[in-house]
Amino acid sequence: MKKYYAKNILLNDGWATDKTLTIEDGVITAITSGKVNEVEEFQGTVIPGMINCHSHAFQRAFAGFSEQGSEGKDSFWTWRKIMYKFLSQLTPEDTQIIAQQLYIEMLKMGYTRVAEFHYLHHDINGSSCNSTYNNQSQEKLATMAQAIFNAAQYSGIGLTLLPVLYQYSGFGQQAPTDGQKRFINSTSQFNQLVSDCYELSQQYQNSNIGIAPHSLRAVDKEAMTIAVEHVRSLDPKAPIHIHIAEQQQEVNDCLNHYAKRPVEWLLDNMQLDESWCLIHATHINKKEQQGIIASKAITGICPTTEANLGDGIFPTTDFLALGGSFAIGSDSHISVNPIEELRWLEYAQRLTKQQRALLASANVASVGQNLWQESALGGAQSTNSNTGALSIGKQADLLVIDDKKTALFANKNQYLLDSIIFASQSNTITDVMVNGNWVVLNGQHQHEKVSAEKFAQLLTTLSA
Ligand code: ZN
Repeated sequence: MKKYYAKNILLNDGWATDKTLTIEDGVITAITSGKVNEVEEFQGTVIPGMINCHSHAFQRAFAGFSEQGSEGKDSFWTWRKIMYKFLSQLTPEDTQIIAQQLYIEMLKMGYTRVAEFHYLHHDINGSSCNSTYNNQSQEKLATMAQAIFNAAQYSGIGLTLLPVLYQYSGFGQQAPTDGQKRFINSTSQFNQLVSDCYELSQQYQNSNIGIAPHSLRAVDKEAMTIAVEHVRSLDPKAPIHIHIAEQQQEVNDCLNHYAKRPVEWLLDNMQLDESWCLIHATHINKKEQQGIIASKAITGICPTTEANLGDGIFPTTDFLALGGSFAIGSDSHISVNPIEELRWLEYAQRLTKQQRALLASANVASVGQNLWQESALGGAQSTNSNTGALSIGKQADLLVIDDKKTALFANKNQYLLDSIIFASQSNTITDVMVNGNWVVLNGQHQHEKVSAEKFAQLLTTLSA
């Protein structure tokens, strides 16, 4: 048991001052007023850690490699070609080096948990991994997944691993392409992989699993239904994530094949509930928005990736006005910074609607505070984790902000998260605690130097 004193802290029910937190086994067990003896003091303002609801870790290594234009002919689909070529080179060892560098970067920027949408399952030739990774010599379905668990453990970030079910290259059970061979599993093989990952999650701290049917173009109803049943037999509340309507072409293909829009089809064919997270529900109409909200499912929005890939803009203002919930993700890792995600989330709405301060709420007038709190709570829902807010019974996942930096912009708590999200020019986070353990102190992670050297070395050997 340890006690920490906070001069200034954002609790679940709002700002508070002069509080002592008791933390036992990674969980906040008491919050009392005043300062007791033998207490460690937080060196700044305390806010809840952010949850990253959508990550493809390996993509961090080629962020920036796909920005060379070719006469206005580039799109999501040309980017995907570059991505497939890039991933075809990666071993489990490479994947761990990339993921641990990424997760250290995430922690330093304020993400304390990540949902890893993990589809790079097999070895370079497409067969199950038969590598010497971790001194194991036999084929193992979960070798690549284990590289992700190891990276999370090394960095100290909380992990929700979502093995991806991927079977086809397009609607109507089109055969997978050569570039997709590392993603493909039969349904029974996939369920075995999920069971293996579940076992791993029992061995690694602060981790859990769910599944991710990749998209309606890559999975059919039968396989998705079997996979959902299987993961629920292991954990009835396991998160289920899916890429749903990222591109207009995907919507058109879905209409051609199913005569329904993607979200419409999903609502009509799967029993959605609060464990479902719809990633990139970008192209969506009002009826579909209402359907998601009625089902209690959540949407996962990745503003910087969606901008970078030219996907489109999720109708966040309308969706929140109807009562919808959301989480944020860094997806392709073109940005690894929750502040930039939230800034873009609001700015895209301002640019579209030619209005200001759109994503405040009736209870919280500060756009920055409302977005931080709502996306952290949404992230907790999307990962089925006991995180997302600071209150008794919640995991101690928190960030300490440098008051000297924010004092240059904000003179009251009311403006603090607005100043961090809209006006800060550098990282204001000094210390990061995950599950009651310090993982970043004075802006430093204990493994950052070694990790960066390994990562930079690896990058010199990879080609886009
Ligand atoms: Zn994605």
